[in-house]
Amino acid sequence: MGLLDGYSISFDHFIGGERVASERHFDDISPIDGSVVAQISAGGRHEAYLAVTAAEKGFEVWSRTPRGERASLMRTIASIIEERVEILAMVETIDNGSLLRSHIRSVMPRVAHNFRFFAQYLEESLDHEDFDTRGHRNHITYDPAGPALLISPWNAPLMLETWKIAPALAAGNSVVLKPSEWSPLTASILADITKEAGLPDGVFNVVQGIGEEVGPHLVGDQRIRRISFTGSVPTAKAIAQVAAKNLTPCSFELGGKSPFIVFGDADLDLAVKLALDQYDNVGQVCLSGTRLLVDESIFEVFIDRFSAAVVELRQGDPRAEAVDLGPQIHPEHLERIDGFVQRAKANGSKLVFGGSKNDELGGLYYRPTLFVEDRIDSEIFQEEVFGPVLVAKSFSGVEEAIQLANSTKFGLAGVIVTSSQEIAARVSSEVVAGTIWNNCFFVRDLGAPFGGSKNSGVGREGGQWSFDFFCDVKNSVFAPTGWRN
Ligand code: NAD
Repeated sequence: MGLLDGYSISFDHFIGGERVASERHFDDISPIDGSVVAQISAGGRHEAYLAVTAAEKGFEVWSRTPRGERASLMRTIASIIEERVEILAMVETIDNGSLLRSHIRSVMPRVAHNFRFFAQYLEESLDHEDFDTRGHRNHITYDPAGPALLISPWNAPLMLETWKIAPALAAGNSVVLKPSEWSPLTASILADITKEAGLPDGVFNVVQGIGEEVGPHLVGDQRIRRISFTGSVPTAKAIAQVAAKNLTPCSFELGGKSPFIVFGDADLDLAVKLALDQYDNVGQVCLSGTRLLVDESIFEVFIDRFSAAVVELRQGDPRAEAVDLGPQIHPEHLERIDGFVQRAKANGSKLVFGGSKNDELGGLYYRPTLFVEDRIDSEIFQEEVFGPVLVAKSFSGVEEAIQLANSTKFGLAGVIVTSSQEIAARVSSEVVAGTIWNNCFFVRDLGAPFGGSKNSGVGREGGQWSFDFFCDVKNSVFAPTGWRN
């Protein structure tokens, strides 16, 4: 237990409704100044076992709880989150360095909305469907699958966690959440909120720890019946291998190198504004359109106007209202980003601006960076940097734009800027991705499908896609004969 910004937070696991401490701990570092803000219990085999055992017991109770009661409890959780928006926002900012103003205004209210959305989903969706075949009744039910393991990254911790927690609970499953070791704190506050709301013990559990240490013990436990993971491609492959031993169904939301395509007829003010958004959260956004593909007829003017606009972005302490770009999450990640940039420079990619740590601010701040690159097989064009690093390339004609857009192993998202509805429709149809935004970015309804194609993911989240993943859908067939009542 410790104090953060005057708020008391437990740094231990939350298992079966109780706090459980480990003998080993790891440091949780604030990206704002590199200080150690907490020493967090580091789980391993033992804690994983305890948590899944608690989740099994929780499942017995929660899977039998009527839909209406589940919905009502989820709304209570949402209400408590709404009361605590400011503290959740501040703790998340201290923990992962994202902007306080966006945590307060959009992220935390949407965290509450995630619970409200799936509470409403429970009330509005059918709990069963019936149809007849040759006089036999097919009775289809959405049965809770069992304890679900949810594993999350650090770039938008509570938001991404609750995208999974809310549908898993709505479907009647119990949950074991493994937050990222780089942003473990708001999950711990959420655990207290679920207890305060009256969620039965064992229905929601949090195991803290280093992914490689505790992850395989959780993933490999055959009592886990669903795994929903958001994170990197290499981790997804490691999880898939372990999960395969038990044939545990997995949903994967992974990385991207999404195209941001500006056609010659685009509204340039809009294109520049949307391109600036690709630096949101200092590029630590899976959906970012990090490859700026620009029609050759406007390439130079676009790069000039974009470069002038980037100068106006203010970098600094993410708690300050006027700041647009905060720090990167962790020293290791900062070095990883810088590694990509220095290799690109050494390989002859043309640096337009940025290209280094921000020495004026020190710490974990990296300058927004843009390369121009013609070689589409180069590392900087192909690999996800997950930092404020964009790469631009010109194209000639719609055909080439589509071919370039589809030229990586990823398929998460895409942004198209054009004034032609015809071009928008064709390119949206032919670019391989889970989400395409036309003349907009980041507009997302929780009822819409969300996920990645190719190496960007397996499965879809959102609305019925999330809910169904956490269910065992069953068909009970009733014959017309043989009844004695
Ligand atoms: P990561 O893969 O390193 O870690 C994600 C989580 O997996 C962490 O909680 C970590 O502790 C855990 N983990 C690590 N090794 C494990 C193992 N062997 N078994 C089980 N769990 C293990 O990813 P990250 O660095 O936290 O996040 C950045 C990545 O996430 C980027 O690639 C980004 O694109 C992706 N991401 C995708 C989406 C999406 O919705 N598609 C959203 C956000 C982030």
